[in-house]
Amino acid sequence: MSGALVIIGVYLFLVGSCVASFINVVIDRVPQGKSIVSDRSHCDACQHPIKAYDLIPVVSYILLRGKCRYCKQKIGLRSFIIECIGGLMMLFCFYRFGVSWMTPLSFLVFMILLAITMIDFDTMTIPNGLVISLFALAVIQYFLQPELDLFTRMIGMISVSGIMLGLTLIIPDSFGGGDIKLMAASGFLLGWANNLLAAFIGILIAGGYATYLLLTKKNSRKDHIAFGPYLSIGIYLALLYGNEVIRWYLSLFHL
Ligand SMILES: [Zn+2]
Repeated sequence: MSGALVIIGVYLFLVGSCVASFINVVIDRVPQGKSIVSDRSHCDACQHPIKAYDLIPVVSYILLRGKCRYCKQKIGLRSFIIECIGGLMMLFCFYRFGVSWMTPLSFLVFMILLAITMIDFDTMTIPNGLVISLFALAVIQYFLQPELDLFTRMIGMISVSGIMLGLTLIIPDSFGGGDIKLMAASGFLLGWANNLLAAFIGILIAGGYATYLLLTKKNSRKDHIAFGPYLSIGIYLALLYGNEVIRWYLSLFHL
């Protein structure tokens, strides 16, 4: 039994890191407007095309000791870390949901949110394609989990994003268009209650981080911070644990 579990674990880790390897391509190429499917991968330093056997996620980086096979230039550690995160998250989703469609779905949601997070950190924008991908996953999830009804999801789409849009009209640039669209897509995924929770968690973490930056004078009040990463953390936590948190919160009031 335990031997079989190890094989399943290794398999899931590899599947997760392969998807993450594709997400690395998305993170690198989408902000530059490059194709994510047609171009061959090549070394950033010497432009040498990378052979398929050097593109195995996690494993190739370790075998090559983090250096290009041809010019020995260091390969970015970030891609390797993201591949490891992908493998570990696939294991975690399986641990959380077991043999269920929620395992691949929640994993893919995480991967899209990870791409949004990295691209928002890099460029301060959230590509529409990623928001649309998240919405497409939400639609699939609606057919798999119809208990979360269409009305709850539609209210979820407009509640948080509507407030954010209203605030942006009053205080220009308080939220980016990408943040608003992201919360609309996550509203359809989570329904209004969990989406409110997601926004609350995101604002709490972003607020804490912004306060830290102000106090340590690393940022002035006028500097913007990318909001997408914090919203993404909120969305993912709400997807995994939102129902439990809301049940606990209501129990405090004996509801
Ligand atoms: Zn090279």
